Formats: sequence, structure tokens, C-alpha cells
Amino acid sequence: MPSKPRNRVGEIYGRLTVVRPSDRRTKGGNAYWWCRCVCGREREVPSDKLSHNTTRRKPVVTACLECSKELQVEGVYAKNDREEAERREQAKRNREQLIGQVPSTWLRMPLTDAHARELGEVLFFRGTRCLRNHLAPYRINGGCLACAGQVPSAVVTNPHQELI
Ligand SMILES: [Zn+2]
Ligand SMILES: [Zn+2]
Repeated sequence: MPSKPRNRVGEIYGRLTVVRPSDRRTKGGNAYWWCRCVCGREREVPSDKLSHNTTRRKPVVTACLECSKELQVEGVYAKNDREEAERREQAKRNREQLIGQVPSTWLRMPLTDAHARELGEVLFFRGTRCLRNHLAPYRINGGCLACAGQVPSAVVTNPHQELI
């Protein structure tokens, strides 16, 4: 017989408050608890998923199913925004090194694919080399303009320059 579970009613885990025990048990004999989310929905959660210890590898539950999904999506958006901001910063740094070595029109182009889309333009210049070692603008969905034969690759004379 599994031992009687500790009463967890009233405990708070993220957005969830434990409101009442459930008759359900996990295969391991753990109790389930009904929890109410701040949005008002309820979710039945096994006690081993109710933990304040978020550093352990076992996943914990901190919201109802719907809120968990939203939180996940927000997390993905936040990560994408951060990565895009880093790409633009890197492109700016690359381009600063290329002033005077590439056509100035390239340096006025959008910084990244996403930047070009935002501005309704089709070309962008990150100051990076393509797989065939060209240094040239890119077309959104299209790749390197030098590969496409539309512009010659820039020839950069500074041998110390490291382009990422
Ligand atoms: Zn919720
Ligand atoms: Zn190329």
C-alpha cells in the first residue's frame, strides 16, 4: 500500500495552486492533485511533477495545459528575437570592417534576411562569405548574388580581417 500522501492543498507551483486531492495514482503509487491555474482552468498533476526545484532534470508542471503551450510559444518567440538581434549586431560589426572595401550601396542594405522582409526589400548584406567564399549581398530566399552571377564578389584587401 502506498503511504498516505502529504496534504498539498494550498501549495503554489508557478501559476498553479493545489486545490484538492485526486483518487488517481501514478503507476509508481504517487498521488495526483487537482490544481487551479491563474487562468481558472484546472489540471490534474502527479505529485512528483509538483516541485519548486526547477534545476533537476525531471520536468515540472507550473501551469494548465493551455497556459503551458502559450508559455512555450512565448519562449520560442523570445529566443528567436534574441537570435535575430545578435545576427544584426554581428552584421553591423562585419560591415563596419568593410567600409571602403565594398560598394557603399551594400552597406546601406538591410542587415539580415528578416530585416529585409521587415523593410519590404529583397536584398540584404550581412558582411559574411557564402560557401563559395564570395563576399556579396544576398537575396531573400535566393542566396548569394555572386553565386547567381548578378554581381562580382568584393575583393577584400585587408589580410588580417576575420569575417564570420
Ligand atoms: Zn492556465
Ligand atoms: Zn557566392
